[in-house]
Amino acid sequence: MYWKEAFIKTLREDPVEAELSSHKLMLRTGMIHKVASGIYSYLPLGLRVIQKIERIVREEMENAGATELLMPSVIPAELWQESGRWQYYGSELLRIKDRKGNDFCLGPTHEEVITDIARRNLQSYRDLPVNLYQIQTKFRDEVRPRYGLMRGREFVMKDAYSFHDSEASLVETYEKMYKAYQSVFERCGLEYRPVEADSGAIGGDRTHEFQVLADSGEDVLVHCDQCDYAANQEKATTRRNQELLPTPENAPAMEQVSTPDKKTIEDVATFLGIKEEQSMKMLIYSVNQGEYLVSLSIRGDLEVNEIKLKNFLQAESIEIPAEDQLIEEHGLTIGYLGLPGFSNEAIKMHLADYSVVDMQDCVCGANREDTHVLHVFPARDMKVDQFLDASFARATNPCPKCESGLLKERRGIEVGQVFQLGDKYSKAMGLSVLSKEGRPVHPLMGCYGIGISRTAAAAIEQNHDDDGILWPYAIAPYHVTILCLDPQKQESADLARELHDQLKAAGIDVLVDDRKERPGIKFKDADLIGCPIRVTIGAKGLKQGVVEVKQRNQPEAEKVALDQAGSHLVELCQSYQ
Ligand code: ATP
Ligand code: MG
Repeated sequence: MYWKEAFIKTLREDPVEAELSSHKLMLRTGMIHKVASGIYSYLPLGLRVIQKIERIVREEMENAGATELLMPSVIPAELWQESGRWQYYGSELLRIKDRKGNDFCLGPTHEEVITDIARRNLQSYRDLPVNLYQIQTKFRDEVRPRYGLMRGREFVMKDAYSFHDSEASLVETYEKMYKAYQSVFERCGLEYRPVEADSGAIGGDRTHEFQVLADSGEDVLVHCDQCDYAANQEKATTRRNQELLPTPENAPAMEQVSTPDKKTIEDVATFLGIKEEQSMKMLIYSVNQGEYLVSLSIRGDLEVNEIKLKNFLQAESIEIPAEDQLIEEHGLTIGYLGLPGFSNEAIKMHLADYSVVDMQDCVCGANREDTHVLHVFPARDMKVDQFLDASFARATNPCPKCESGLLKERRGIEVGQVFQLGDKYSKAMGLSVLSKEGRPVHPLMGCYGIGISRTAAAAIEQNHDDDGILWPYAIAPYHVTILCLDPQKQESADLARELHDQLKAAGIDVLVDDRKERPGIKFKDADLIGCPIRVTIGAKGLKQGVVEVKQRNQPEAEKVALDQAGSHLVELCQSYQ
């Protein structure tokens, strides 16, 4: 490929709208072009990367026994009404009407469509297991589309769905897909980690995310420094005592203390001269948009993990109601709440995080304005209906899996997720097949997604420096860039063409920069685009009978004799594979 036909348009300056390196670099290299917020065109350079990732994904899907199909992106509302998600998916679902006023949505994920295909085509256990996948454009009307392809509204996803007549069969396919995902991200040359995760809006029981490690990642991962435990912080637990510490015999009695205007944990701790860990806070949550209220007590320095709380309550939604509403409607003394001595009919259930079980002699609100209470011993002073794990695991917490390890934190970018869905969709949408015993049963399902376009962005996020991208070989848009510094000179142009043809014949993707531009610009662009190997054909080298070969991830270039350049490059490329 030659520069002009490759349609590469690089930018000298960082675009102002981009914060994240991958977004900046994708715009600067001309990989993508913004059409609207979160909606991009993939220009030829960007598309090459996407297609390379897709090729790897297709190969690994076929290896895992999945077969490709293609579903539409416009989906009739009826299917989503059947699963119940028309109501619950919220505003990320872009709803549209056709000319007759019929409701449709743009598919953010395809459980409904595949289940409809399955119920029309699967008759008996003999048709199972089956695993189908597609690579397709999804639409999610994200609240904050940002960072280019990282969080787009329109993006390319590989989604696979499997159907089973037994739990064992589902687990077998899940494990195959898990391994296939490992192969995909390894082959893409990425440093990644599979982590336990929350199943979110899709539903289901068991799930893992695949996270590309990068400091700029949106997700926090927690992993053990001794064993293989790793989980998204949304899901991660820590080893905690579950039995309340008994109250010592000589424990002092509770005592009220005036704390004027000290409503936050920080203010109370400073005012009373205690550590934040010695304080306890009580929060009120409204469940399912006002259906009922619960209280949650938790150690003062910890943050509530609302996903865990919501899962524990098996709720559709939870939220902290407006302070005014709690004060006016229920007479609660917000800022001074505490479970000891609390009494209010409006709260249906009092919950406490496990962090409370080993607190002793702590401080909490006294349910009176400007007042806290000292010497609280939970076993003696609090009537908790149920304890649960409702806090975020943090670095240095003990590992929940092994005896000795401590947790560590890293940031990651979620590039894929695998789920065991169970019968949620087959039940809701009336998919059943005849079992071996001749009874109709709802097949169990698995679903498996990879963000193809996000993977491209994550690869850049993990592999770049101040000058540009350092593509992993397998997904580089081109493997070799040939800089022809004097394209008007016949000898240079001929050599560039010869090398191009020789490399291409060896299956290597090669780009020749034959623009009539200054060498400085060509070098800068080559580093920016970041193909693994750069060859420079210049007048000085030609006189000495050499070309210069430089790998993007090495500081020094080497000189290679003209007659050996081709074979040397082929060998170098092989060393990357
Ligand atoms: P997130 O938590 O980042 O919003 P998700 O968990 O909702 O993602 P899934 O439903 O698991 O996403 O979708 C499968 C994969 O699709 C994700 O692992 C991710 O790589 C990709 N993906 C999801 N949303 C987007 C998006 N807005 N832009 C680009 N890729 C996305
Ligand atoms: Mg996910």
